[in-house]
Amino acid sequence: MATTAPETLRTAKNYINGQWVAGSGPAHKIHSPSSGNAIGEVTFADGADIDAAVAAAREAFPGWRDTPIPERIRYLFALREKMNAAFDDLARTIVEDEGKTIEDARGEVRRGLENVEVACGAPLLMSGESLDSIAPGIDSTVTFYPLGVSVIIGPFNFPLMVPMWFLPYAIACGNTVVVKPSEQVPLAMIEFMRLLDQVGLPPGVVNLVNGGRETVEALVEHPDVESVSFVGSEAVARRVYQLATSHGKRAQCLGGAKNYLVVMPDADVEQTRSAVVASAFGGAGERCLAGSVLVPVGEGSRLGEVRDAVIESASAIRVGDGLDPSNQLGPVVSRDHQTRVLQHIDTAIGDGASALLDGRSYTSQPGYYIGPTVLDGVSPDQDFAGTEVFGPVLGVMHAPTVEDALTAISRTRYGNAASIFTSSGRSAREFIRSVPCGMVGVNVGVAAPMAYFPFTGWRQSFFGDLQAQGRDSIRFFTRPRVAITRW
Ligand code: NAD
Repeated sequence: MATTAPETLRTAKNYINGQWVAGSGPAHKIHSPSSGNAIGEVTFADGADIDAAVAAAREAFPGWRDTPIPERIRYLFALREKMNAAFDDLARTIVEDEGKTIEDARGEVRRGLENVEVACGAPLLMSGESLDSIAPGIDSTVTFYPLGVSVIIGPFNFPLMVPMWFLPYAIACGNTVVVKPSEQVPLAMIEFMRLLDQVGLPPGVVNLVNGGRETVEALVEHPDVESVSFVGSEAVARRVYQLATSHGKRAQCLGGAKNYLVVMPDADVEQTRSAVVASAFGGAGERCLAGSVLVPVGEGSRLGEVRDAVIESASAIRVGDGLDPSNQLGPVVSRDHQTRVLQHIDTAIGDGASALLDGRSYTSQPGYYIGPTVLDGVSPDQDFAGTEVFGPVLGVMHAPTVEDALTAISRTRYGNAASIFTSSGRSAREFIRSVPCGMVGVNVGVAAPMAYFPFTGWRQSFFGDLQAQGRDSIRFFTRPRVAITRW
């Protein structure tokens, strides 16, 4: 069990205008999910700190905007080298702060790095268009310009990767940034900012403030902020989107999810079993792409076959501290979250589901553990069918036909991801075309777009137009200007 002595407590400060400064707001302890022990302290920014961070970003903007783009991305190339050199330290910090396994944390760092790499292509991605002779002697161009100060607000579950969906693109395009990580897991971004500090970015180009709801509201409402990139739960994403747009800001707000894994009678059971288990229990189910409901389609004995295979694999999962590489499932992020997930399990059982695999026994050990849990007998009208649980809990809902499965998915508010497992191209094609979700897996349990592609949540999983990552990020962080010229 990883424990950290009080004298090694780490402090999460704010990084404003190239300086580390303690926040003037209240201090909060940071707890290790694997032990429950305090491992650090975060000092929240107050109003003056937030004003200072935005002012630093605003003042840095003209110089950064006018820095030639090859020079801007050279900082990103240097950052990539620093992140690669610090790869294991970053992964370890994510485990200590968030609780996921070291393998998952390495995956997170890799995914974050991939966004830095894609943003290095900004000179091509950001280039405009031109047309000769739109009228006699007249030419026209479209040129993309940065917006100004961009705010980035992160959730707890990917403390490093999610800010990377935005930050490298924002600065490559010439914007300056204020980032606010989740107050539950501030340490990974502190490590990241140390690396960014070493690459010698001009002061004020990237700033970090710590805090919670008040900090978010102050940033989003700030008159000198041009854009807001937010990732978090649905209710907060909607609220932040409304607040940002009502203040005239450009906003992209990614919210919660309820992802279904639909298994057709012709699916390969072995392939499906491992994909479903990784989807439902990887990252302790605290992923916006986590599979939450397994839907075997059809009648007869195949139904139980997939479910039983999943239970067999899930029962063998080793639960424990994510720093031990032999463990496959770490704790959830906090005591409060553990309590919430347990309540979801109790509610589902109260609504008629039965626990074929019950992870509640793990809660007796220190830390915030819940073992893999499989609940059979979930139906579309139960709370579980439409509520995001965000823990290592998989419901099983039998559906006579694929249309029934699609109807159940349509009844949820969310539209992040869904997967189908089948050996039929026709079934796969029809599913892709009709499922009301923006990310679809075929024989893949976690349909996570690589950094070159947008992260395309639909319905209440996303509020905005331009999505995170890739070309969408470039468009989000720039505005076009058309010039029509006659000489
Ligand atoms: P959260 O909504 O509680 O917090 C997210 C951020 O918002 C944090 O920085 C927090 O400080 C801030 N915040 C919290 N309450 C606020 C309020 N009332 N007003 C303004 N700001 C507030 O989310 P979380 O628990 O940190 O993260 C888990 C959620 O994020 C899950 O719902 C998950 O599905 C979602 N998520 C979605 C995606 C996606 O791509 N759609 C990716 C990762 C996580």
